[in-house]
Amino acid sequence: MTEQLEPMPAQWERALAVVAHPDDLEYGCAAAVAVWTDEGREISYLLATRGEAGIDTIEPARCGPLREREQRASAAVVGVGSVEFLDHHDGVIEYGPGLRRDIAAAIRRYRPELVITLNHRDTWGGTAWNTPDHTAVGRAVLDAAGDAGNRWIFPELAARGLQPWDGVRWVAVAGSSEPTHAVDVTGGLERSVRSLLEHRTYIEALTDDDPETYCRTFLTGNATAASARFGGRPAVTFELFPR
Ligand SMILES: [Zn+2]
Repeated sequence: MTEQLEPMPAQWERALAVVAHPDDLEYGCAAAVAVWTDEGREISYLLATRGEAGIDTIEPARCGPLREREQRASAAVVGVGSVEFLDHHDGVIEYGPGLRRDIAAAIRRYRPELVITLNHRDTWGGTAWNTPDHTAVGRAVLDAAGDAGNRWIFPELAARGLQPWDGVRWVAVAGSSEPTHAVDVTGGLERSVRSLLEHRTYIEALTDDDPETYCRTFLTGNATAASARFGGRPAVTFELFPR
């Protein structure tokens, strides 16, 4: 029998999800977010960019605001009302202290026990190469969970009134090729399809397929594939880094 994944920890109230682009959470783990908000947990989204370089036929100045609107709508579908954007540039996000500081600042403001991000690894498994934005943000999130708790790493944050928050207990990485944990998303899968579908402009530019069929096929396929390692239940997987 295939090695089974552990259930995600349940002892938390607040999560902050930090990713590079609009649609990263919808492709990655929105079904789990829907399940969690149903349970009364509070989840906020922080996007490093507005995904302004994501659509070949729409120039960035017009694309950024459009994708911001689509992201807010997709978050609302899974019960997330708080969506913030940083001003990094799509496609050329630089890993380094600046990015870590921005994310640490957000962690201090939201004070989450769980921080969520998208695959920080070089590939999606095999030879499917990840993008530099995802690896930069994923790694910076893993780092910033620690930075947020240390008053001396970014002292300028305390000067802005953001006191250290050492309460992050886990960082959960969605879309990892080395998952350790999973969430049963039976109750959230349908909303995750609706949530991804809110990125309609992006998806219509991406595929000639019917958008709803495309979203449903992708998300159901992933959840079904994961079920083999989670007792047959449709699942979203995470690589969990306890702190
Ligand atoms: Zn992305």
